[in-house]
Amino acid sequence: TVAVVLFTSDLRLHDNPVLRAALREADEVVPLFVRDDAVHRAGFDAPNRSAFLADCLTGLDAGLRRRGGRLVVRRGEVAAEVRRLAGETGAASVHVAAGVSRYAARREERLRDALAGPGCVLHIHDAVVTALAPGRAVPAGKDHYAVFTPYFRRWKAEGVRGTLAAPRTVRVPDGLVGGPVPDRDAVRNVSPGLARGGEDTGRRLMASWLDGAMADYQDRHDDLAGDATSRLSPHLHFGTVSAAELVRRAREKGGPGGEAFVRQLAWREFHHQVLAARPEASWSDYRPRHDRWRFDEDEITAWKTGRTGYPLVDAAMRQLAHEGWMHNRGRLPAASFLTKTLYVDWRVGARHFLDLLVDGDIANNQLNWQWAAGTGTDTRPNRVLNPVIQGKRFDPRGAYVRRWVPELAELAGASVHEPWKLERRERARLDYPEPVVDLAEARSRFERARGLS
Ligand code: FAD
Repeated sequence: TVAVVLFTSDLRLHDNPVLRAALREADEVVPLFVRDDAVHRAGFDAPNRSAFLADCLTGLDAGLRRRGGRLVVRRGEVAAEVRRLAGETGAASVHVAAGVSRYAARREERLRDALAGPGCVLHIHDAVVTALAPGRAVPAGKDHYAVFTPYFRRWKAEGVRGTLAAPRTVRVPDGLVGGPVPDRDAVRNVSPGLARGGEDTGRRLMASWLDGAMADYQDRHDDLAGDATSRLSPHLHFGTVSAAELVRRAREKGGPGGEAFVRQLAWREFHHQVLAARPEASWSDYRPRHDRWRFDEDEITAWKTGRTGYPLVDAAMRQLAHEGWMHNRGRLPAASFLTKTLYVDWRVGARHFLDLLVDGDIANNQLNWQWAAGTGTDTRPNRVLNPVIQGKRFDPRGAYVRRWVPELAELAGASVHEPWKLERRERARLDYPEPVVDLAEARSRFERARGLS
């Protein structure tokens, strides 16, 4: 018998329940990735993610070939491609990981329709993209947790499934044609400092993280200049590292660093279970509000290009453009600045992040944006992050700002966070913009809009 394995956000051979189930059931498998036209139409195939994806698919193909198999890559509508390939190979089943987004729900629906009728069974596997299946832990009478702390308590108590080894061999039908695996170098407009993708890279990063810097995570994860977080987010997004395996191994290592890291992984799981229950929250307010956002093109451009005149925000936005990645302590003030200080709709920021982030993820990006904007699950939705205070706290020596905003490289220490305090002549010498908005005025505007004053 033959089974199709449809890879989606699980581009790995290790700890992959989808692949293992197919190999258990069938004599031969057809490993398939479809470059779905729907992803392209939604503008979700941004260059940075396309380049990273190309690395992942190249690695997956190489890993399969080492085991006697190969990856089939097709382009088109995912359900139609699956049906065609299942027909061509006489497959009796199709295996795929359950997703949490509306897009994934539609994909599952289309697959169900395409495979309806006798002959081919669809298997959708839970706990592949996340360690715990969304909906597995819910408060009594509800379909998801809306507050992180009780979710975390429950999530911790649930435990994690065992880790599955990578298969030794993968038998594919004779004469199976692979189709061209995309080439990273063919992707244009990629950020110059973009990380490499692929399962081997992800597993090396995971191993060195677990054996090294994770031990200091609780003390260093907020240190912007220290850059001491795992940088595993793109691997978790594409599934080149398994969330379940990572949680299990970080727990085994333990210690304050391991515990703090696992808590952060639980934030990912939390947002996934919110989105699974409320798929419309990808673009609609999770908690509806009725005041109007502002829309000032020049201010939005200043924000996007890292020229707001607020050094921390500008440094963060420039890191995003250069690396396709941004430190969490940069994402928070950058998002707060757009949505609370400039009072611009969070969807504008979320879209821009999705255009650039290599880890750009509907659950994590949209729900973090909503959290920062006060339309989501934040229990203090009216808190406004002051970029100067944030800068002094998380970049006390100013090294992060100096790294990303070379115009300010000569300024010493924390003075880099307040260039407007320099003498006028000195200030004029720096080719750095004046603040795009006055923070106190912006704050009053925010309070008026939210009915707080
Ligand atoms: P680490 O600090 O090493 O954390 C380990 C992992 O935990 C991360 O890889 C991630 O999977 C998870 N994690 C950590 N913090 C969060 C969080 N706040 N919410 C959800 N998961 C978290 N993360 C994404 O993966 N994709 C996104 O598109 C995304 N967009 C964001 C947008 C905004 C406005 C904000 C405030 C945060 C966003 N995050 C997003 C969450 C977080 O900033 C990143 O996951 C983190 O910076 C990735 O770096 P890391 O892997 O080194 O994280």
